[in-house]
Amino acid sequence: MTRMLIIGPPGSGKGTQAERISERLGVVAISTGDIFRANVKGETPLGVEARKYMDNGDFVPDSVTNKMVRDRLSEGGVEDGFLLDGYPRTTAQVDYLDQILADGDQKLDVVLQLTADDGELVSRLLGRAKETGRSDDNEAVIRHRLDLYHEQTEAVVARYAERGILTQVDGIGQIDKVTDRVLHALHAHAALIRT
Ligand code: AMP
Repeated sequence: MTRMLIIGPPGSGKGTQAERISERLGVVAISTGDIFRANVKGETPLGVEARKYMDNGDFVPDSVTNKMVRDRLSEGGVEDGFLLDGYPRTTAQVDYLDQILADGDQKLDVVLQLTADDGELVSRLLGRAKETGRSDDNEAVIRHRLDLYHEQTEAVVARYAERGILTQVDGIGQIDKVTDRVLHALHAHAALIRT
């Protein structure tokens, strides 16, 4: 049973690593970005609302995002743990998640941060834009998403560091190598908690 978060700047490969961790630990990965994209594609009311923000690289408002996460965590499949990918991204979302977990008498075991410098991230994301045609992968939007990460999400990371549940992994390098580093860091963290 593991309840964990993966946090990283856009382009750090957190979605890819989240899938791999989810397989290895047998916990469901829940990506707020994927849920929003699926809703945008399906043209649901949530998707129509989220799209206004996503296309510009802005955060979807906390009120919308928080409710969506609460709903998802109240559905089945999370009894054996979960890996939240891309949430929380603001300190208000941290408070909200604390409340959801407290209501369920649960707590987080570990928060994994993938790190990478901005120059590397911009070139990766520009490469990805060519491949996927994601509407939020042009240079101005990419820079804005990185700015938001520094302005808002680093404060989220600091909160979890204060609680002693943060573990950081260098996200630069081959995907398999990064996965090895991640699994190693998670094992080391779990061993530390048990002792
Ligand atoms: P991602 O795939 O995690 O990069 O997310 C893509 C986009 O979805 C972000 O740029 C935001 O517009 C939106 N999004 C995803 N997660 C959140 C969140 N926790 N809070 C606000 N907006 C989010």
